[in-house]
Amino acid sequence: PVDRTPEIQEARLKLPILAEEQVIMEAIKENPVVVLCGETGSGKTTQVPQFLYEAGFGSDNDIIGVTEPRRVAAVTMSQRVALEMNLPQSVVSYQIRYEGNVSPETKIKFMTDGVLLKEIQKDFLLSKYKVIIIDEAHERSVYTDILIGLLSRIVPLRTKKGCPLKLVIMSATLRVEDFTENKRLFPVSPPVIKVEARQFPVTVHFNKRTPLDDYTGECYRKICKIHRMLPAGGILVFLTGQAEVHSLCRRLRKMFPYRGKNQTKAIEDDESEIATDRRKSKPRKNLTLPKINLDNYSALPVDEGDEDREAGGNDDDEEGQGSDSDLDLGDGGSEEDEKSDSSDPLYVLPLYSLLAPERQAKVFHPPPSGTRLCVVATNVAETSLTIPGIKYVVDCGKVKKRFYDKVTGVSSFRVEWTSQASADQRAGRAGRTEPGHCYRLYSSAVFSDFEKFSQPEITRRPVEDLVLQMKDLNIEKVVNFPFPTSPSADALIAAEELLISLGALQDPPKTGRLNYLQRAKLSSPITPLGKTMASFPVAPRYAKMLALGKQHDCLPYIITIVAAMTVRELYEELGRPAISDEEKEILKAKKARVLQMQRVWAGQGPAQKLGDLMVMLGAVGACEYSGLTPKFCERNGLRYKAMMEIRRLRGQLTSAVNSLCPDVRIYLDSKMPPPTESQVNYLRQIVMSGLGDHIARRIRPEELLDEKWRNAYKTPLLEDPVFIHPNSSLFKQLPDFVVYQEIFETTKMYMKGVSSIECE
Ligand code: ADP
Ligand code: MG
Repeated sequence: PVDRTPEIQEARLKLPILAEEQVIMEAIKENPVVVLCGETGSGKTTQVPQFLYEAGFGSDNDIIGVTEPRRVAAVTMSQRVALEMNLPQSVVSYQIRYEGNVSPETKIKFMTDGVLLKEIQKDFLLSKYKVIIIDEAHERSVYTDILIGLLSRIVPLRTKKGCPLKLVIMSATLRVEDFTENKRLFPVSPPVIKVEARQFPVTVHFNKRTPLDDYTGECYRKICKIHRMLPAGGILVFLTGQAEVHSLCRRLRKMFPYRGKNQTKAIEDDESEIATDRRKSKPRKNLTLPKINLDNYSALPVDEGDEDREAGGNDDDEEGQGSDSDLDLGDGGSEEDEKSDSSDPLYVLPLYSLLAPERQAKVFHPPPSGTRLCVVATNVAETSLTIPGIKYVVDCGKVKKRFYDKVTGVSSFRVEWTSQASADQRAGRAGRTEPGHCYRLYSSAVFSDFEKFSQPEITRRPVEDLVLQMKDLNIEKVVNFPFPTSPSADALIAAEELLISLGALQDPPKTGRLNYLQRAKLSSPITPLGKTMASFPVAPRYAKMLALGKQHDCLPYIITIVAAMTVRELYEELGRPAISDEEKEILKAKKARVLQMQRVWAGQGPAQKLGDLMVMLGAVGACEYSGLTPKFCERNGLRYKAMMEIRRLRGQLTSAVNSLCPDVRIYLDSKMPPPTESQVNYLRQIVMSGLGDHIARRIRPEELLDEKWRNAYKTPLLEDPVFIHPNSSLFKQLPDFVVYQEIFETTKMYMKGVSSIECE
């Protein structure tokens, strides 16, 4: 029996899902797998675990498990459910990657999907659970998808053993065919239960113009206008990342100061928050690099519960499109200056994944009287959390996504337009308690160019890293795995072959040439090196380089090379046609200067063998040495944005290496000295270790049968000749053997990122 307070009881009864309790519980009793769809805010996350608890799940020694793709949701939802049930956090608990409050009394356990994956690695049957709820399945995060695939096998196994496990898949949208219509996943389609939610109309206001760059500035101006001109009601702002959130919070607090007792403290808290977050990501485990002790590694899934996940969306929101009412504030002008203002105070709160739980919880409390609530959030507020009292939504339309380069496979974060479904979800946040308004800081034309839905993450990325993570979870036959949406078989086989060649998976016994089907059944287990590699947040090719980089103090260089190879288009395009004679002269002079700089960066003697990679090292080194200014970049034909991106990535990789291997302790050196001659040789070997299949042999004059092969190279992968680009530092040398980062096709096929693999 659950002893709820009268207030909680009253609030619960207003939730649409309460009316469906019986239907839901009966479906769960009668089916091993149930899919539950309901609008955000209908009560899925907070109520379904309680229904299960009251129906007797979680008695005896069983636990009710709930997975969330985001850490914020795991933490706040466990707290909310504990509060609603009047139970301590030792009973309703959470576990995220590095922390949690699970106890021997825990009955309901909220966790990130990555945590449950790791538990499956230790206990495949998940014997301590009687029911698993997969929440936010519509987000289609790779880990959620893999969990559903695994559970589709665990559930029948548990039935066979006579101790059934129930699976509840919850989604904020009705797009669930990938789970219900996929016979390989669930041979018997699971029933789908829909919960109708109360949704008040939301009027959508588009900007007439879309700001080119400064969407945070546009956000700021729009919020100022809303606060000055529109009736009471909370504001929820969608931005893309933590840094943006903090800077907007600061500006808004300055403009509409709240003179409550903790106003200044709140700001200090936020500042120190950033410092705490950094501390949180410090090393937890003693891990070492290959040469020291490979077996000392235990890999964690990278980026589990990250705030930067892209969300899927809903296609049946019913808000009006466009409006010309007086609430349509028009595009933000630039009339605001940063002086503070006489309007009412604005109670500004940040909200993002890594924010400390007690600060996250603030958004659920009513704001101090006489103030207006303004929550500045990343897309965690899109579907996972429902903030009470929101009447206005300001949507920048962007989302920070992990972007995977199809060619290099290296991942990085990029800010992009979101999908229509996502934008509609965001708008929907304004209509939970009364009719609301959503201000989109982009035009309706831009909106109509958004993709309708976001593709499941798993189909948008190369899979060698995913295969490596799965192998790290001891899922050996990845090809036979029942993905809700599968990557192509070719993609999986290619991934497995690449991983074998990198030494991350064991080489299968040689039984002559394997045919396609045999290969499809390949099931090579992971090696200790593979486990090391699985710990780095980059594609396996580059992880291999990082894993070897410690030797002979090569790590700072390898980190820089990996970062530079990840960021495309380092160099400014100088081949563009000039408009005037004057410009022609300027371009010519610049080209000459840039070429000269590149020759300097390419180094002397043996360093030149590192080729284009040496030029990258030199360019990054010179940029950092000069303080990385737009002026320096412009003078030397480098793209400032690319160089900034490289700096950020170097920072990220440096802390990854430091936290995985505390004995290394490297730091970002802005005055990185050039590598020594012997280091250059080691660097070339290390680069080869990751790009071993990207080699090319020069066609010698005596072999020349066809003119099209003059000065060309032959690769094992392609029939056609490939070339060293005139911009490459090795264009004149034409070494006999080279290794390249990638091939791109313009008028010919050119190799990019070329270095020599000759010995002397
Ligand atoms: P769903 O999972 O369907 O999106 P939830 O169960 O998360 O819905 O939320 C149901 C309702 O519970 C929300 O509308 C919100 O008002 C309320 N709620 C959720 N979390 C909190 C909280 N931490 N504090 C106050 N109210 C909350
Ligand atoms: Mg929810």
